[in-house]
Amino acid sequence: MKPVSKSAKLANVCYDIRGPVLEKARQMEEEGQKIIKLNIGNLAVFGLEPPDEIVQDMIRNVPHTAGYTDSKGLFAPRKAVVHYTQEKNVRGVTVDDVFLGNGASELIGMSMNALLNDGDEVLIPAPDYPLYTAVVALSGGKPVHYMCDEQADWMPDVADIKSKLTSNTKAIVVINPNNPTGALYPDTLLLELVEIAREHQLIVFADEIYDKTLYDGHTHTSIASLADDVLCVTFNGLSKNYRSCGYRAGWMVVSGEKKHARDYIEGLNMLASMRLCANTPGQLAIQTALGGYQSIKDLVAPGGRLCRQRDLAHQLLTDIPGVSCVKPKAALYMFPRLDPKLYPIEDDQQFAYELLAEEKVLIVQGTGFNWPQPDHFRLVFLPNSDDLTEAVGRIARFLEHYRKR
Ligand code: PLP
Repeated sequence: MKPVSKSAKLANVCYDIRGPVLEKARQMEEEGQKIIKLNIGNLAVFGLEPPDEIVQDMIRNVPHTAGYTDSKGLFAPRKAVVHYTQEKNVRGVTVDDVFLGNGASELIGMSMNALLNDGDEVLIPAPDYPLYTAVVALSGGKPVHYMCDEQADWMPDVADIKSKLTSNTKAIVVINPNNPTGALYPDTLLLELVEIAREHQLIVFADEIYDKTLYDGHTHTSIASLADDVLCVTFNGLSKNYRSCGYRAGWMVVSGEKKHARDYIEGLNMLASMRLCANTPGQLAIQTALGGYQSIKDLVAPGGRLCRQRDLAHQLLTDIPGVSCVKPKAALYMFPRLDPKLYPIEDDQQFAYELLAEEKVLIVQGTGFNWPQPDHFRLVFLPNSDDLTEAVGRIARFLEHYRKR
C-alpha cells in the first residue's frame, strides 16, 4: 500500500495544547513516571467535580436519552439558554437562535465552516485559544492575529486591529474572559470593538465560556448585549463554569443583525443537521445547570479554592527571577513572561520538552497560543495548593539551571 498522508487542508492546522509535548508526557507516564500536569483546563480531574445536582440528573436521564433529538437541540435546554441571554441583557434572542453542541468546540468549528470562503480573513487575538486559528485555517479562511498588550493587562490593541482590517475581513473573534491570559475586558473596550464591527460589517464571534469564572468581585458583560445592530455569535457551555468538560455540553447563540444573515444561518442549520445532534444527556445537563445555583461561584470567591490557588501560583511564579505575569482577573490560566535576557529561549516547544524531561512538569509553550515570540508559557492553576507549590518549585529549579547554562 502507498503511504497514506494527511490532507493538504491540515497543512496549517495545529493544536499544541494536545500536541507533541503531551505525547511525550504520555510516553513517560507509560514508563511509570509521574507528571504534574499544568497543561489543560480540565477541572474534574483535579477534584473540582461538577455540581452534584448535574451529576444526579445525568444519571437519572441516561436511560431516557438514547434517541436523537432535533439537530439544534431539545426545546427546554435551549429555552434555558434563552433565559441566560436575557439575564445577560442580550435582546431579541429566541429558541430558534440557540444551537446546542458537543461542547463549544464543535459549534466553533461549525460557525467558521458555515461562513468562510478561501481567503476570507478572520481577526483572532494573539495570544489566542488556538482552536480559533486552527478552525479558521481548516475552513479555508485566513487567520489574521491582532495583538493583545501585556503592558495594558493583555487588552486587545485596538490600533493593531484597525491596521489589520482589509476588504477580506469577515469577522473578529473576541475571547472574554480570555484564555490564556485571564484578561477580562471593560465595557469601554467592548464598545470600541463593537464600533469596529459595525463600521466594517464584521461578525463578532464572542467566546464567553469563562463568564462566571471571575475573581475579585468582577462582573462580566456579554459583548452581544452592547451590539443590537451587529451580528454576534456567542459561545458558552458547561465545561468550565460547571466543571463538566467531559459531558461535552455547549451552546451557541446568534443575536443582533440576524435579518441580513439568513443565508449564513441556513448554513449553520445545515451543518447542525449533518452532525445529527449533540449528545442528549449533555443537553439536559444544560437545563439543570442554568436553572440552578451551583456554578463555580464559591470556588472563585475570595477565600475560595480557585482564588487561593490563583494567588499562590501568581506569587510563587513572580518570585522567580526574570518571571513576570499579569494577574488573571478571570478563567483558569496564567501566561507568564520569561525575560529573554535571563532566558534566551529560541524554541519554546523545546523549552517545554526540557522542563518535562528534567522536572516532570507539563506546561504549554506560548507559541502554541499563536504568540509570536518564544518567551511565554501557559499553566493552569487547578492543582491543589500543595501540588501547585511543588510544581512551581520545580519550574523555579529548572529556570535556575536554565539561567546558569
Ligand atoms: N473556548 C475557550 C476559550 C476554551 O478555553 C475552551 C476550552 O478550554 C473551549 C472554548 C472549549 O470548550 P468546550 O469544552 O465547551 O468544547
